[in-house]
Amino acid sequence: MPKVLAVVNQKGGVGKTTTSVNLAASLGKAKRRVLLIDLDAQGNATMGVGVDKSALELSGCDVLLGECGLAEALVCVDEHNLELLPANDDMTAAEVGLKEGQQGQLRLKQALAPVLDDYDFVLIDCPPSLSMLTVNALAAADGVLIPMQCEYYALEGLSALMNTVKQIRQSINPKLEIAGILRTMHDPRNNLARQVSDELIAHFSDKVFRTIVPRNVRLAEAPSYGQPVIAYDARSTGAMAYIALAGELLGKKVKQINETR
Ligand code: ATP
Ligand code: MG
Repeated sequence: MPKVLAVVNQKGGVGKTTTSVNLAASLGKAKRRVLLIDLDAQGNATMGVGVDKSALELSGCDVLLGECGLAEALVCVDEHNLELLPANDDMTAAEVGLKEGQQGQLRLKQALAPVLDDYDFVLIDCPPSLSMLTVNALAAADGVLIPMQCEYYALEGLSALMNTVKQIRQSINPKLEIAGILRTMHDPRNNLARQVSDELIAHFSDKVFRTIVPRNVRLAEAPSYGQPVIAYDARSTGAMAYIALAGELLGKKVKQINETR
């Protein structure tokens, strides 16, 4: 199971940030060393773990533009047992800079390399586009975690994303794998959602996480308190789903270690 996971879907509002924040906090709670990287100028993951994006001295932008090392820009979020590379609107400038600079696709990978051994998991929350920032995430990652809502157009978007992953694999990152597709905001009473979910399993079988994240109002409320849902309401169905997802990831990792012995 990959260690550096890019949480990607070019479609907006599918649960990328919710997944990044809550999976990071769940892995942190399981005593894993976690780095959460916010690569989105919206800074939602930053705010989601209670860090004020308007009061940052350094951020991911400075790291990507080579103005500081990654370790210097990190914020310790002790309360949730994780570290954060925060982001704010400056990330838009980083994106422009990356397009102009040489080896712009590999900046995050290069910045991450010196600290990689300090973590068990690195989760990268990507913006809703297949932009230069997302390419940086895909170049730095060893796995792609794809949150998706089981809706009519979702499968179409998924094939575009799979093509991008294929291109990245053929060009800059041959070891990139699909860590898994995560069904989010799921409502089992919705027939279409069930149909799309069945189709996903038919096409991608074991690449679909067994864990399904239900639609849960506590998940939507938690960010306004700057808290992951396990801190805001640990007994909610949303919290339980992300704890289960963390368990599924850790289980896959153990299985992989045993198989390679
Ligand atoms: P963007 O593409 O803008 O970055 P995103 O893919 O990161 O969006 P989120 O911000 O995680 O998506 O979620 C979009 C909205 O849906 C947010 O308001 C979030 O609180 C809410 N949400 C996410 N997951 C759930 C869920 N399982 N149940 C209820 N609400 C959810
Ligand atoms: Mg987001």
